[in-house]
Amino acid sequence: MPRMRFARSIVELIGNTPLVQVRRVAAHVSPTVLAKVEYLNPGGSVKDRVAIRMIEAAERDGRLRPGGTIVEPTSGNTGAGLALAAHGKGYRCVFVCPDRVSQDKRDVLRAYGAEVVVCPSTVPRDHPDSYHSVSDRLAAEIDGAWKPDQYTNPDGPASHAATTGPEIWRDTDGRVTHFVAGLGTGGSLNGTGRYLKRMGAVRVVGVAPEGSVYAGGDGQGYLVEGIGQDFLPVTHDPSVPDEIVTVTDAEAFAMTRRLARDEGLLVGGSSGAAMAGALRVAERLGPADVVVVLLPDGGRGYLSKIFNDDWMTVHGFAGHEHAEATV
Ligand code: PMP
Repeated sequence: MPRMRFARSIVELIGNTPLVQVRRVAAHVSPTVLAKVEYLNPGGSVKDRVAIRMIEAAERDGRLRPGGTIVEPTSGNTGAGLALAAHGKGYRCVFVCPDRVSQDKRDVLRAYGAEVVVCPSTVPRDHPDSYHSVSDRLAAEIDGAWKPDQYTNPDGPASHAATTGPEIWRDTDGRVTHFVAGLGTGGSLNGTGRYLKRMGAVRVVGVAPEGSVYAGGDGQGYLVEGIGQDFLPVTHDPSVPDEIVTVTDAEAFAMTRRLARDEGLLVGGSSGAAMAGALRVAERLGPADVVVVLLPDGGRGYLSKIFNDDWMTVHGFAGHEHAEATV
């Protein structure tokens, strides 16, 4: 009898995402450009890796106990990852998000069985009704609550040092020369970059939106989601990136559309940003170089924004994709 092949739970399918060569959008550069396709994680993003690692570490040291509740201010990928990883473990999930978060994103979290608490977007961070304050209050009030806190939790970067980095090293047979990723919490770049630098002479490049704190700004003035901050998170280690490349929304969104149309990679705006930054670096490199670019999530969450012509026009981005496509 052939052995049956199946996962014992969806959580076992997190990680081990493939690398795929990007040919058409990288046709004008010499290096081999490889995308690490994180939307193929079961929760649809790179954050599945972080979520399972944070939960398992909290279980091990007793911060999260059987029957406990996970409380996190999140609207998107981290929530989906946490809800998925809590699946089957009997944890309740309460996610707190600002009301600017789309109904679709709230519905995804509820579909996974999470409770979603919506707070006004217009109040300052320290206001009692802000989603940060409300999540702190719920974490304090709910018996058995644990707040993963992705912006300070060292298990975020550690998840990438333990999985993303080794996968890239293994799948490139140690030939990766450059690793490029966007900076949100900084965890992807920090953990993966740290691991790859330990293994070989890999140059690590962070990508940040123009106007974000990583690019010397105040965190205002960009629309790309998932990357950029108005404060430097604890999970970011400034000693890891050799270089930080700044991209505009226009560049990021034009590249996001090209990745879908020319490569069949339906990804989100931060993936477009990472690829735009990577190609700028690749322009200076030679044919022996191997550039790995992390694409954090898929494009379905952005159909009414980046992939919607009206939204692009209203925000002044119409036409950019054509200008970029002729490069
Ligand atoms: N892109 C998207 C869509 C994300 O959700 C995140 C996570 N905030 C990132 C990029 C950035 O990853 P990191 O937090 O590891 O810097």
